[in-house]
Amino acid sequence: MNYDVIIVGAGMAGLTAGIYVARAGKTVLMLESGAVGGQIVTAFRIDNWPGNYGVSGGDLMKNISEQAIELGVEVRYEETVNILQNDSGFTVSTDENEYKCKALIIATGTIPRKLSAKQEKDAGKRPISYCATCDGALYKDKPVVVVGSGNTAKLEMEYLEGICKRVYHIHHDDPIPEDAEAVFVAIGRVPATGFLGGLVKLDKDGYVVAGEDCTTSCPGVMVAGDVRTKSVRQLVTAAGDAAVAADAAVKYLGKIDG
Ligand SMILES: Cc1cc2nc3c(=O)[nH]c(=O)nc-3n(C[C@H](O)[C@H](O)[C@H](O)COP(=O)(O)OP(=O)(O)OC[C@H]3O[C@@H](n4cnc5c(N)ncnc54)[C@H](O)[C@@H]3O)c2cc1C
Repeated sequence: MNYDVIIVGAGMAGLTAGIYVARAGKTVLMLESGAVGGQIVTAFRIDNWPGNYGVSGGDLMKNISEQAIELGVEVRYEETVNILQNDSGFTVSTDENEYKCKALIIATGTIPRKLSAKQEKDAGKRPISYCATCDGALYKDKPVVVVGSGNTAKLEMEYLEGICKRVYHIHHDDPIPEDAEAVFVAIGRVPATGFLGGLVKLDKDGYVVAGEDCTTSCPGVMVAGDVRTKSVRQLVTAAGDAAVAADAAVKYLGKIDG
């Protein structure tokens, strides 16, 4: 299949970009490897999304994804594994199919940083979770451990303390307590850019290098949301990027289609 635009990632940035591209009358495919809605879907309450005070991440993203689909965005649950540039545009390979498009918007966000090799070995066969609200209930009245030093680790601990018998708190690389039955990891996030190869320029931490115009080092490839180099990674900035990236993609199509 040949599309005007393929968007990789269906979080806040991808879905909002989809809304803008579809409303501009272009064909758009969105590829998502996990759940539509992205990293915010597990958040119980959001207090800084304008106009919907206290909304849950799940409800907010359900509304936005329904809006995108109704406007004509096609969503497929496939992981993008490779992108090649050719004379007619781009070939996007997923774990299941191959698609062609004239322009691309990368909106793959970030993924949780994994445990160190030492701690992973220490954890042995014990389950490792990156989301207390998703998995905490499985360890009701049992001892668990939270790994991490930042604000997210603190919030994960507070949540688990209401459910579990005991919640240990350790830092990156500390030994994992023997009686903890599950390991909750909150040691930050890293950009999901491994599939990009050398298509666009990345910074030293792996983020896609782009300024406020959301264009990348490769003409025809735009970027939006947490995956780009920026100082504030939030829902409103992801949505703002998406409008800019979609506008840049539509202008790029106008230029190449003449
Ligand atoms: C617990 C938590 C609470 C937060 N609370 C707030 C808050 O209250 N207010 C606020 O403004 N922000 C909050 N944030 C930050 C906010 O969630 C992010 O800034 C925002 O969701 C980023 O959106 P995004 O679309 O850029 O990325 P993401 O939401 O990360 O979406 C990227 C999507 O791309 C998909 N993807 C990745 N790689 C591939 C691939 N190779 N192929 C296909 N799909 C792929 C992922 O599965 C994901 O669905 C919170 C974040 C967390 C983790």
